[in-house]
Amino acid sequence: MSDHGPVQTRCPVLNVRRVDAYYAITVVAPGIAERFRSGQFVSVAVGGDHSSTLLRRPFAIHDVKPDYGGTVEFLFAVRGTGTAWLAERRSRDLLDVVGPLGRPFPLPRDPVNCVLVGGGSGSAPLFPLAQSLRRRGCRVDFVLGAASADRVFSAITARRVAETATFTTDDGSFGTRGGSPTSWAA
Ligand SMILES: Cc1cc2nc3c(=O)[nH]c(=O)nc-3n(C[C@H](O)[C@H](O)[C@H](O)COP(=O)(O)OP(=O)(O)OC[C@H]3O[C@@H](n4cnc5c(N)ncnc54)[C@H](O)[C@@H]3O)c2cc1C
Repeated sequence: MSDHGPVQTRCPVLNVRRVDAYYAITVVAPGIAERFRSGQFVSVAVGGDHSSTLLRRPFAIHDVKPDYGGTVEFLFAVRGTGTAWLAERRSRDLLDVVGPLGRPFPLPRDPVNCVLVGGGSGSAPLFPLAQSLRRRGCRVDFVLGAASADRVFSAITARRVAETATFTTDDGSFGTRGGSPTSWAA
């Protein structure tokens, strides 16, 4: 396997915390952290060693930090058996994680203005992208949408890293009420 390819690793959970409608898990995974480029995701085995759940679950990498040699954070909403199991993980549990996977976002060579648009948990990979773009001198503006206020991803971080952050929710509980072309036009 090349130095740039994905690695499979059993990594300790550093912490699990609630963030509105999501859970955020940080794992210590230096091999994944050092290879990561924005836009990539991890694939996580769920259910434990004796589980009949064979398929791994994919999650976008939301943050990478140099702590403990390299940590990786992903956020998820509980949908079914795999994410319910993940939400019950605690510090020092081990997770079997493969990554980083997927094609990274292409980055502009010159400083340009970038509008990053994402919905719900689909906004996760935009945060490391915003950091990479800022490091290249690009202006970053966020437009983040979700079904409701508690599903808008990392609104505070978006405000901090971007020049402007605009929010929309389907039910109007946060930001502009939006979603359908009709409501955009209204
Ligand atoms: C590349 C990639 C990156 C992803 N990144 C993230 C991320 O950062 N954060 C995140 O929360 N999710 C993300 N997802 C979605 C996530 O992988 C799924 O929500 C997860 O695999 C569900 O696993 P589960 O075992 O809990 O549900 P399952 O048991 O597999 O499914 C249970 C039920 O929920 C339905 N379901 C499954 N997923 C979803 C969904 N996303 N929305 C609505 N219904 C669903 C299924 O159809 C099924 O009926 C990503 C998916 C992909 C492909």
